[in-house]
Amino acid sequence: MTTQQARKALGFFPTPLRELRHLSLLLNGPRILIKRDDQTGLALGGNKTRKLEYLIGDAMAKGADTIVTGGAAQSNHCRQTAAACATSGLACHLALGGSEPADVNGNLLLDRLFNAQIHWSGESRKGENIPQIVAELEKQGKKPYVVPYGGSNEIGALGFVEAARELDRQMTETSLDISHIVFASSSGGTQAGLLTGKKLVNRNFDIVGINIDKDEGGDIPFREYIHTLTNDTMAKLQQTYRFSEDEIILRDDFVGEGYGEVGVLEREAIEMLARHEGILLDPIYTGRAMGGLISMIRNQEFGPQDSVLFWHTGGTPALFAYARQMSEIRFQKSDL
Ligand SMILES: *Cc1c(COP(=O)(O)O)cnc(C)c1O
Repeated sequence: MTTQQARKALGFFPTPLRELRHLSLLLNGPRILIKRDDQTGLALGGNKTRKLEYLIGDAMAKGADTIVTGGAAQSNHCRQTAAACATSGLACHLALGGSEPADVNGNLLLDRLFNAQIHWSGESRKGENIPQIVAELEKQGKKPYVVPYGGSNEIGALGFVEAARELDRQMTETSLDISHIVFASSSGGTQAGLLTGKKLVNRNFDIVGINIDKDEGGDIPFREYIHTLTNDTMAKLQQTYRFSEDEIILRDDFVGEGYGEVGVLEREAIEMLARHEGILLDPIYTGRAMGGLISMIRNQEFGPQDSVLFWHTGGTPALFAYARQMSEIRFQKSDL
């Protein structure tokens, strides 16, 4: 890293890189590999560990005593932030969308265990009310540090620049070539970091983000957001290259009914990976992204020479919070 960016060790790296032979055979598809960021080690794992190493490092370097962030009630990012705070001796405030549910499960159960203070935020599930929480904390004499939605700014993205370096080393060690990296993209830090890192290590795999959320009116279009964040991350690392917007590959064709709406695409992918590879996916992010990858393979989007890496970004605890929707799998006619 060319900058002197503070970093707090929170996870176990490198994460495993493995082959999914059964899945390749089953789909009569290209070689498929998986990068196990569900095994990053922090509170049941996930991609946010990588970003939080830089964000919590930055917060501590700046003398903060309290972290404020936000997300949906079942946010993996919030759960991992709460755990990072617990191990770093920082207080944690979470702005969560919706209202207190009767059944506390999945990520929310873990937020509570990590002693995060929860602010129920109704309609806002992207931390829109964080400024008020910060003002209140400052009035109390606290030193709050805001971690952005999904941990995605040019500091958090550094975690995925480092992840690209990690993958580059694993590829060299195992003489492996990869043509595509496919993963769930929703706040952009993973994609921006991987794009930046790909330039730094001089690899030419395609970085294919599967959009899991619909753009809402008033939002900056997600592709444009990723584009800006990628170039901000390049600038932060004193890189002179700038990406053009059409270099950002974002698939919008698998969003289904929108964020958190579990459909046949997700269920089939979750069931397939569980039955044939013994791997757990979550209904919101990795189930949708894997469902997208399976569809792309069935549509012959890859050639026999391609090697496709699925980046498992975590989310396992949400599986339990969606138990009811998941149990409906039994009633689906399955052609697996
Ligand atoms: C946050 C998250 C993503 C998306 O990563 P971004 O960097 O926010 O785009 C994907 N999968 C899981 C499980 C996540 O929690």
